[in-house]
Amino acid sequence: MLLILHPDTDKSAEDYRLTLEHLECLKGVSYRVHDIQGKQQKLTEIYLLGDTKKLTTEEISALPAVERVIRISEEYRILGRHQDEKRTTGFEYNGVHFDQSSFHVFAGLCAVDNPKNVEEMIRVLKEHGQQCTRMGAYKPRTSPYTFQGHGKNCLPYVFELAGKYDIKVIAMEITHESHIDEINEAMEKTGNPTGVMLQIGTRNTQNFELLKAIGRQKRYPALLKRGFGITLNESLNAAEYLASEGNANVVFCLRGMKTEAGSPHRNLVDFAHVPVVKRLTRMPVCVDPSHSVGNHDKDPGGVLDVVHAAAQGVISGANMVLIDFHPHPAEAFVDGPQALTMNDLPRFLEDMTLCRETYLKRQNIYQSGK
Ligand code: PEP
Ligand code: MN
Repeated sequence: MLLILHPDTDKSAEDYRLTLEHLECLKGVSYRVHDIQGKQQKLTEIYLLGDTKKLTTEEISALPAVERVIRISEEYRILGRHQDEKRTTGFEYNGVHFDQSSFHVFAGLCAVDNPKNVEEMIRVLKEHGQQCTRMGAYKPRTSPYTFQGHGKNCLPYVFELAGKYDIKVIAMEITHESHIDEINEAMEKTGNPTGVMLQIGTRNTQNFELLKAIGRQKRYPALLKRGFGITLNESLNAAEYLASEGNANVVFCLRGMKTEAGSPHRNLVDFAHVPVVKRLTRMPVCVDPSHSVGNHDKDPGGVLDVVHAAAQGVISGANMVLIDFHPHPAEAFVDGPQALTMNDLPRFLEDMTLCRETYLKRQNIYQSGK
């Protein structure tokens, strides 16, 4: 059962105290309080867990701080939809809004290599009106003998350069809890010039200790990649795991599934699941065509496979595209062959705008016929 409190409920007020007092006395029921900072107001939600079947909605709605009560299914308690369209969805981070209606491109380096390439990438993004990027500092590689990322050493210049060109959010994978402290330190050192969205890679989708650590902090939102060899339900539960620790600012990312059937692409593109994730949960949905497709090949008409895959995701309503670019792919330490170049950027952005507009027009066709 989910209790939504009156907006801006003051935690030191009598109404709040009386409400919690009542909840404390419920036998076999425990509760968890979640605060959500919306654009205009702060919302507090309380999840009742355990033996809630015996409780009536009337009894709980009557508690002084409670505005309304929703019976929720067992699945995706925090991130699920639960037939209540009035619930706030999405979040604001560092001036950028993320929800199931927003659209952002996160183009950038798979792995940070040197300040020159970072600056060139970010400068060109700024010139094309972008406010987000991707930058890998910690790289979980299939082989232990390949480049693992520059780690904390590159963070100060990455953050400073992002600030210099007014980039507001950097999607950055972390592979260990200690990386959050390293990011915090670099942010402090450079004067918080930008924002970070903590990415959980496909190899770590079910690394529950990492999910818990990211869920316990509220400073940074999270971008959770779908596990490449597990069911969609298992990956969505991983997102729920993270949110249940307190941080529900999670974007879910489809990135293809590992199977020989996907060959010659690196993974089998799974972007037909964009609407599924939007229906089952309130999370914004991202697609990563680079790690799905994994090459720089074109169709006879001159369109890259990676861009075709991105288009499929966006035309189906994806809210975010995460994509590898590199100013000089031959110099890239990781995933150079699949990276798009600065030359590809204007056409790619034009194409994504077209796909987004097409999605909105497609939606109109069905909505006007309601
Ligand atoms: C990445 O985005 O750089 C990455 C390693 O992706 P994935 O975890 O999907 O393989
Ligand atoms: Mn990559």
